[in-house]
Amino acid sequence: MSDKTIKKIDIEITRTDPVCGMDVSLEKALSKHLFHIYGHKEYIFCSPECLRDFKEDPHKYISEEIYGEMAGMCEYCGKEMRTGEDIATAMIEGEMHKFCCPICASSYVKDCLPGDKND
Ligand SMILES: [Zn+2]
Ligand SMILES: [Zn+2]
Repeated sequence: MSDKTIKKIDIEITRTDPVCGMDVSLEKALSKHLFHIYGHKEYIFCSPECLRDFKEDPHKYISEEIYGEMAGMCEYCGKEMRTGEDIATAMIEGEMHKFCCPICASSYVKDCLPGDKND
């Protein structure tokens, strides 16, 4: 058995900041109250500045250009992912992998981890 260095892989849920277009960790944004509900949708932001800009003029930022664009494919199930939707990310050996949902991410991560399956 080769000595694999992967021990634990953190899965993070990210969503696009509509103001600057950055992928922002959902957990971090919620814990810092960097979110705003507008038109039945919850938007999250990387900074208080982005949140403030959005609140001033939401229409300016909710555009098809940022939201609804192809953001790649889920590396586990192959589903198309779009910006504005939640994307699950996992750092595996210094590389960022993207998935459509935490379930796909954890299934993929499970396959990468040596042994250690709790079935
Ligand atoms: Zn931002
Ligand atoms: Zn998937």
